[in-house]
Amino acid sequence: MGAVIALANQKGGVGKTTTSINLGAGLVEQGQKVLLIDTDAQGNATSGLGIQKSAIEHEIYDVLINDTPMKETILHTTHPGLDIVPATIQLSGAEIELTPMMARETRLRDAIDEVRDDYDFVLIDCPPSLGLLTINAFTACDSILIPVQSEYYALEGLSQLLNTVKLVQKHFNRQLKIEGVLLTMYDARTNLGQQVNEEVRKFFKDAVYDTIIPRNVRLSEAPSHGLSIIDYDPKSKGAQVYSALAKEVLAAHGKK
Ligand code: ADP
Ligand code: MG
Repeated sequence: MGAVIALANQKGGVGKTTTSINLGAGLVEQGQKVLLIDTDAQGNATSGLGIQKSAIEHEIYDVLINDTPMKETILHTTHPGLDIVPATIQLSGAEIELTPMMARETRLRDAIDEVRDDYDFVLIDCPPSLGLLTINAFTACDSILIPVQSEYYALEGLSQLLNTVKLVQKHFNRQLKIEGVLLTMYDARTNLGQQVNEEVRKFFKDAVYDTIIPRNVRLSEAPSHGLSIIDYDPKSKGAQVYSALAKEVLAAHGKK
């Protein structure tokens, strides 16, 4: 049965989607079968892996709202072995539509249960909020990977995130754990980068990955080509660090 990991931080632009795509591709490189579920109406993971809007017949919205089986929404991406459940702008209405529905917090978990045997890892790319979509992801997952941008106020908002984790643990998912905390967009040349690194490690201790993701322009270019960094520029620093992260995640799961 695959491990389900949600990538979450209610701040936008911290590297959730970049990490979902490239950790996903990195895990595939290590021989894992990976499904990425896009739960952000921006659909950045979807377009970033080369899925054209015209190719999408069913999407995560249909799974959550119309009870479409997840299997019917899964598409192959530009990275062979990495599959995706796509999202489109249609998802932007889902939080409101979910509110009066039965089992509104557990709909994603129920849907994933039907496909998780087909994969080693299921990654959920969360939207930048702590609303019902993120609650669905926290209810559905085994653990949460938190990307933290190496900038001023890096820790701001994380207590709110951890509070939401506690609430979901209490009501829907007793086993929920923190998978790890990932420093992103790190600039080793600045004191700020080092300060944030120390601060985050002081707060999260061993939960912080040894791998740190630096700022790398190739990482920001890859999605406009619909490619993971491993396919866009395998020799780049970005490709190297995401491979290293994939190995760290595998080791934490007792694989290799
Ligand atoms: P989120 O999903 O948390 O909103 P994204 O992964 O979309 O964040 O990243 C926000 C922006 O920063 C995107 O334009 C992305 O290409 C860019 N980006 C993310 N990580 C890096 C990095 N390590 N180096 C350079 N640019 C990055
Ligand atoms: Mg995103």
